[in-house]
Amino acid sequence: MVGLANFVLGEPLTREAVAETRRGIFDAHLHIPSDNGDNFQWNLVTRNMAEFVAYLDKCDVKRGVISSSRSNLAQTPEDFRAGNREVAKYAEKYKGRFRGSCVITPFRIDEALREIEYCRKELGFVWLGEFCNYMTHYRYDTPEWAEVMKLAAKLNMVIQIHTNTSEMRYLAERFPEATIVFPHLGPNKDDIGQRIEIVAKHRNCCIDISGSGIERVGILEKAVQEIGADRVLYGSDFTINEPSAVIARVKNAFLTPADREKVLFRNVERLLSRAGQNS
Ligand SMILES: [Zn+2]
Repeated sequence: MVGLANFVLGEPLTREAVAETRRGIFDAHLHIPSDNGDNFQWNLVTRNMAEFVAYLDKCDVKRGVISSSRSNLAQTPEDFRAGNREVAKYAEKYKGRFRGSCVITPFRIDEALREIEYCRKELGFVWLGEFCNYMTHYRYDTPEWAEVMKLAAKLNMVIQIHTNTSEMRYLAERFPEATIVFPHLGPNKDDIGQRIEIVAKHRNCCIDISGSGIERVGILEKAVQEIGADRVLYGSDFTINEPSAVIARVKNAFLTPADREKVLFRNVERLLSRAGQNS
């Protein structure tokens, strides 16, 4: 159980606000275990969807955007379609708790673009990614990827992309019309500084605080100060990483109660509702 009182010295939340926050924590970055056994967890302790949900319950994560490990690892359109259908199945089964996200790999680009349209129009997804080009070795600076970015903007979808710092700079500058979420504050002090600066400069971009960087005390405060609290999102990268570790850092950070709520759930709610999905 994560205690959410005593947020900022001298500024405890009201009882009502604490209750609302507990109900509302919204994880912008979840990878579900696939039914075929694909699972990003380094040593399996949550092997299926029931165990995945039970673990999130322990961490007080009540809602989240889910994507399929199987789609990230896809070598063929059949593979990414199968993963996305699984996501749709679990978004339906746990209705109100999870929002589906579409992942493709761009090797057969026409089929990938068709799948994005299908997920938006037939499955009601408004989120794309997390895309991870390093897993199946593709690049973001190609005409094919530009098609993905343009379609995301045209369909008014949020697109979440794992990048190194130079890929991040390229995408932020090249696609100002897309709503982009970049996961991870960064692996070292230099990268963290640059990544925060890139997101701060591009108002269409957000950062999710999963993975590397969040464990460094003071970095979340720096991100909120330089980017603004509206574009910093709570995400965990579970099943790989521990959700409650990130929540603990948000809880202890020197933020106002209002900014803490933005990070924990209000910003994701706003992105989803701007894309046409009620949170
Ligand atoms: Zn991830």
